[in-house]
Amino acid sequence: MPDISQLSINLATVRQQWGLIEALEGVARAGIPAVAPWRDQIAAVGLKAGVRRFRDLGLKCSGLCRGGMFPAASPEGRKAAIEDSLRALEEAVAFDAACLVLVVGGLPDGSRDLADARSQVEDGIAALLEPARAAGMPLAIEPLHPMYAADRACVNTMRQALDICDRLGPGVGVACDVYHVWWDPDLQSQIARAGRDRLHAFHICDWLRDTKDLLLDRGMMGDGVIDIPLIRGWVEGQGFTGYHEVEIFSAQNWWKRDPDEVLATCVERHRTAC
Ligand code: ZN
Repeated sequence: MPDISQLSINLATVRQQWGLIEALEGVARAGIPAVAPWRDQIAAVGLKAGVRRFRDLGLKCSGLCRGGMFPAASPEGRKAAIEDSLRALEEAVAFDAACLVLVVGGLPDGSRDLADARSQVEDGIAALLEPARAAGMPLAIEPLHPMYAADRACVNTMRQALDICDRLGPGVGVACDVYHVWWDPDLQSQIARAGRDRLHAFHICDWLRDTKDLLLDRGMMGDGVIDIPLIRGWVEGQGFTGYHEVEIFSAQNWWKRDPDEVLATCVERHRTAC
């Protein structure tokens, strides 16, 4: 049975109710040891102030969200995306994150060239890799569900992400988010292929059978159809000892609730449904 010492809260889970500082304090108050902050949340209070409160509270960082969004219609756009990811890398280092999560980006505006977008993604990660290695910060490609291939991520399976990792070498691995990969018939074998060294993050929530919104209707663990204990077993079977990071975007439900209640529910469901 999972223990609260393994729990992390991706701060998107309470983003509508709390800013960064309140969220850090709320997580600490709930006895949860780790968080994954988003860059817009950090920017709203400033990196220094955010890191200071984070450290004072004794929290750990299971990942920083996010770098990526590499494909662009112009060379200037591609350069800007890499520069932005380099700033994300600095922030990940400042939070001593377990990894910098990469949501790699989809098709540039006006493009139908998926192969080219994927090749731009690989070029972007390659450009980030040396600085990341130098900083000792693992990059974690997060494959997103194929429904986001156009607008968010054209890397959609663990296999595809690991093929990129194989080509680029050490310093880049994957973030395994059950919401995105639970349906994949190759999931177990690809988790094994990733192995301990390339599994940098494990994100949990649930897939609601009657999903109403493709982005903002993620379920609380136990409310949907994903066999989270099974997938956790595969991940931990590889020796993964990182956090179980709860990441729930839920415009109509969890974002409307008292955030302390949301965290209490995360703690309880982590124990009973994960
Ligand atoms: Zn995720």
